[in-house]
Amino acid sequence: MKDIMVIWQQVLEKLELRVSSVSFLLWIKPIKPIEIDDKDNLVIATPSVSAKNQILRNFIDKISECCFEIVGKPLKIVVLDQNEEIEYLKNNRVEEKNVSAKDEKNPFVEKFTFDNFVVGKSNQFVYAAARTVAEHPGKRYNPLFIYGGVGLGKTHLLHSIGNYIREFSPELKIQYVPCDKFTNDYIASLYSPTKNKSIMEFRGKYRNLDVLMVDDIQFISNKKETQEEFFHTFNELILANKQVIICSDRPPKDIPTLEDRLRSRFASGLIHDIQQPDIETRIAILHKKSQLEKYYAEDEVINYIAEHIDTNIRELEGKLSEVYFLATLSGKKVATMEEVTDIFSNHMEEIKNDLTPDKVISVVCDYFNISYQDITGKKKNKEIVEPRMIAIYLISEILNLPLVNIGKLFGGRDHTTIMHSRDKITEDLKHNKKTQTLVNEIRNMLTKQ
Ligand code: ADP
Ligand code: MG
Repeated sequence: MKDIMVIWQQVLEKLELRVSSVSFLLWIKPIKPIEIDDKDNLVIATPSVSAKNQILRNFIDKISECCFEIVGKPLKIVVLDQNEEIEYLKNNRVEEKNVSAKDEKNPFVEKFTFDNFVVGKSNQFVYAAARTVAEHPGKRYNPLFIYGGVGLGKTHLLHSIGNYIREFSPELKIQYVPCDKFTNDYIASLYSPTKNKSIMEFRGKYRNLDVLMVDDIQFISNKKETQEEFFHTFNELILANKQVIICSDRPPKDIPTLEDRLRSRFASGLIHDIQQPDIETRIAILHKKSQLEKYYAEDEVINYIAEHIDTNIRELEGKLSEVYFLATLSGKKVATMEEVTDIFSNHMEEIKNDLTPDKVISVVCDYFNISYQDITGKKKNKEIVEPRMIAIYLISEILNLPLVNIGKLFGGRDHTTIMHSRDKITEDLKHNKKTQTLVNEIRNMLTKQ
């Protein structure tokens, strides 16, 4: 049985995109995955009876949908409250099972391989670097630092390196660790009653390696002691020509409160970014997923999804699976535009119901770091005018508010001024890459509120 923690982590990443951020924090995050048993039950524990009821009432379908996408077969979700959890652990000896399964288990997601990674303009250099590192660990780019936005394939690449090395150099010791696990392990060792022994164990685990991969290193900012420990781990490995690979959602220079010496260490190897995929790559990725996961869909469907979701590959494939899932519910074998229309219009409805013009304005202000007064006021400098036009465009496009009403929100501007702003952005979106990125990022922030 695959490591439940690895699977659950993937499920969480998918769920985060499908429930509101409040629900995610309140109900989904506290869930503790227990095990997947031999009968394909996925057992999860919640902290209380009311949390359990919430999950059963509102989230169970989404959880099972995401599990299906990850595991590739239907699992029955069994939800426990805190007392049932204790009882369950006692009766099922889960700890023992997990320990005995530990040696054989592959910590890497099997599907995350180089073969399954579609290479395009946005990621070809990173792909080549990752491949080189997998083929010659410790010999070439060391450290390799990969950064890029959410859902663009960083974790996929780390696991590809892991899977590759396991296959072709199985004697090498590899450790893949999300940054917060590294932090938690370290803190646990500091506060353990047998502190010295625990720290030695911690070091034994992370310094005695041929390859160390740390995912989402941006979470190390603000954690001074962990940075210190990581610095030493890092040096020891690099000095011994062991490979270090690091991923982050931003380049080292933009990670706040990162110690300078770490920053310069990161820069001593190769730093590469993954960019947003272009339309051809998005289409190719969807075709790949459709083959791989057996989510059959007409070409038109694939093209439509690729055109409409352009910032995040996780979301891209999530949409394909939602569309396919809906098709299978009505007994179809191949998804058609009918499901696409359903899903995309529902989604827009949901978003619209939650959105107000004020919220759009605040998100735009947050994004550009300007004030509400300025954006709705009279200032005419470029730093204010562009955000203002984008806010106007988004309110008119997403909320369909009459121009006159939008004018009122922006300090009583005339409806022709509003129309001009809207049309200017519409025009820019056709050819200006910067505007496309700005508008997409803000739209993404809005749909994830
Ligand atoms: P990140 O770690 O950057 O947030 P992930 O590596 O988790 O993103 O990728 C999100 C999803 O997108 C995964 O399911 C992954 O398989 C898929 N994905 C990302 N890039 C590619 C690619 N180039 N080809 C195929 N699938 C991809
Ligand atoms: Mg990731």
